[in-house]
Amino acid sequence: MTTSRLWHGFTDMSTVRHRAPFTITRGQGAYLFDAEGRRYLDASAGLWFCNVGHGRAEIAEAAQRQMSRMAAYSTFGDYTNEPAEQLAARLAELSPTDGASVFFTSGGSDSIDSAIKLVRRFWLALGLPDRRVILSRENAYHGGHIGSTGIGGIALDREGFGELITDTARVAWDSAEDLEKTITSLGAERVAAFVMEPVIAAGGCLFPPQGYLQAVAEICRRHGIVLIADEVVTGFGRSGDWFASRRFGVVPDIIVCAKGLTSGYMPLGALIVGDRIAQPFYDGTAGPFFHGYTYSGHAGAAAVALATMDIIEREALAQNALSLETRLPDLMSPLTDHPMVQEVRTGQGLMAAVELNPQALRVTPGLPMAVVASMREAGVLTRSLVGGQIQFSPPLIIGNSQATEFVDAVLTGLNTIPPQ
Ligand code: PLP
Repeated sequence: MTTSRLWHGFTDMSTVRHRAPFTITRGQGAYLFDAEGRRYLDASAGLWFCNVGHGRAEIAEAAQRQMSRMAAYSTFGDYTNEPAEQLAARLAELSPTDGASVFFTSGGSDSIDSAIKLVRRFWLALGLPDRRVILSRENAYHGGHIGSTGIGGIALDREGFGELITDTARVAWDSAEDLEKTITSLGAERVAAFVMEPVIAAGGCLFPPQGYLQAVAEICRRHGIVLIADEVVTGFGRSGDWFASRRFGVVPDIIVCAKGLTSGYMPLGALIVGDRIAQPFYDGTAGPFFHGYTYSGHAGAAAVALATMDIIEREALAQNALSLETRLPDLMSPLTDHPMVQEVRTGQGLMAAVELNPQALRVTPGLPMAVVASMREAGVLTRSLVGGQIQFSPPLIIGNSQATEFVDAVLTGLNTIPPQ
């Protein structure tokens, strides 16, 4: 075996470097295939991104068509390209925010850091330089850059890097009252923005309490605080609509997206910026926002996003997620009686997680990893989340049988773990 030179993200390399690598060679629909041709259900859509499923030739053809003409050129100054223009118009149209403008990046972390810089620059331009604090929620994951790590709500992610970003504060993930209290104690005049995932994804698949999204939107509006919805996971059909914000009647000032925007066929992120924030930059009163990326408005990536959105629309994938949302509690019910299962979390769209029983986790701390490994043996790929929950967020093209395949694999996993 040749030594792999690939350093894996989110991975303790000391645990994998002596193992034979697990190579995925092909994907088709909701399934992936390894080098030996074994088939696996993709129960996590990669890292929550592959909404339209794998192996879509029409997306590859759209990339080929665009990239053989012109893969990319900068979009600084007055330079532009057709796919970036079309995509910006389409995202602005879908956004619940009136008169939105779209700023492109290369992924979710880029987009969150861009949003932090944009809102601070916005308040500075309005003559309010002290309005700098970025509020976020405990348990939230917003990315791996210095800024997005710094506002993240998973303590372990922030450890060991020194001070990442100043002027931040976190609020309880499930309490609009705590947001209000924190704003009052800091002083609203110091708070620039509140960043929130409509459903906390990597932090444990945590669905907001009923009315939470509307309540925090109202609090932000009342205090003039910029509301940033991190829809990197919940966007593009995952939550049963193009955006969770749209579904729940919330109008954020900025929607951050990535992942499902291209279903992972190309790295791409975007900020959909409402008129309130964009206007001072467009009318010249704020001066320029000197920020951007080499690949902002990448033509090939934009063509891929347009082809992906065509599929989501044509195949009514958001509606499929919505319809599965109502069926998931039943489909996953065989898990609820298992003694090692605390809760099967379902709620919005095609996002779910199996929370293991704290007693079982105490007795067997490696239980989630062992279940995930056993599921792979049984032909289902997924991962465990921060609190040990087993993630279920497959491509949006699935039906009942794939949900059952997942449930059976979790049961097999739980039943093959030797009691300690
Ligand atoms: N925001 C959320 C909610 C995410 O789940 C992620 C990634 O998992 C990010 C931001 C960061 O996105 P990326 O990994 O594309 O930089």
